[in-house]
Formats: sequence, structure tokens, C-alpha cells
Amino acid sequence: MEDYIQISKLNDFIFCPKSLYFHSLFESFDQKTYHDTPQTVGKISHEIIDKGQYSSLKKYLQGLEIFSDKYSLCGKIDIYDKDEGILIERKYKVKKIYQGYIYQLYAQMFCLQEMGYRVNKLFIHSLSDNKRYPIDLPTVDEIKIFEDFIHEVRSFDILKSHYFAPPAKCAMCIYKPLCH
Ligand code: SF4
Repeated sequence: MEDYIQISKLNDFIFCPKSLYFHSLFESFDQKTYHDTPQTVGKISHEIIDKGQYSSLKKYLQGLEIFSDKYSLCGKIDIYDKDEGILIERKYKVKKIYQGYIYQLYAQMFCLQEMGYRVNKLFIHSLSDNKRYPIDLPTVDEIKIFEDFIHEVRSFDILKSHYFAPPAKCAMCIYKPLCH
């Protein structure tokens, strides 16, 4: 599984490819040492999902481990309604639908499809205000863009990169003290 990209890292890569590197570096440490409050709240929300506490109805699959051989992706879904083919990714607070959120859902969808599940609808759900945002299924062109993005993530080399994110992004980044 070493070459597999974790789906949860796709959003990090879009935020900044270097942040993905730092995220991977610190993964094995106690997360309290580098997570700020919104991240901790988000993590707790995901722990509830991982423990399958969303609903006891059998039609919901929660925290299911997923993978795709085609894209070499792996991860977990939040919630999948197998009766309706609805895939939902929950975030603590959604202020904007970032491209990374959409790619996370696409990646989960491709994994589920490869595992034999059908996906009819995609949603991002904001927990703090209980809002649900529908995401269109990808078109052929959007799938191609997604595939190019996965290739870009796979080929990124921190040692050869001179990339720095725009200052406004770096100001919000928890890895700034390590990076700059
Ligand atoms: S400080 Fe800036 S360049 Fe460094 S990881 Fe964070 S966003 Fe990227």
C-alpha cells in the first residue's frame, strides 16, 4: 500500500504541496502538539464517524475503508447510503466548497465504484450549521482534470520544489514555523 495516496491528503496538496509533506512528517506525533482548535474539532467529528455513530440503520455504511487500484488511492468514506447510492462527506464548518472537498468526494466515489458500489449523488455536509451542499457527478472532462491532479500529487518532489504558497495562505498555515 506504500504507493497509495491517502484521500484525506488531496485537500492538503491543493492548499499547498509542501503542507502535505509536513502533514506526512508529523502524522506519527501526538496531534495535540500541532493541531489548532478547528482541526481538533474536525478530528473529533471524524472520530464519531469512524466509530459508526451517525445512524444504526443498516443502509448506512460509515467509516468504511476504501481503495482504488486504478488511481492508487485509499482512505475512508464518511457516510454512504447504499439504498440511494448517496455519498456524503462531512466537515465541521463549511464556509466555501473548496476544490479539495470535491476531489475528496470524487476519489471516494471512484474507490466505491471500483469496489462494486453505485454512486448516484454526492454531498458535502456542514455539521456546525447543518447545511448540505450537492456536488455534481464529474463530467468526462472533469474526470480527466482529476486524473491529471492525481498525477501531479504523485509526481511532486519536495526536494526539487522551490514552491512557496502566497503569504496570505502561509499566514494561516500551522506549518509556517517549520517551513519558513
Ligand atoms: S508555510 Fe506556506 S509554503 Fe509552507 S507549508 Fe505552509 S502554506 Fe505551504
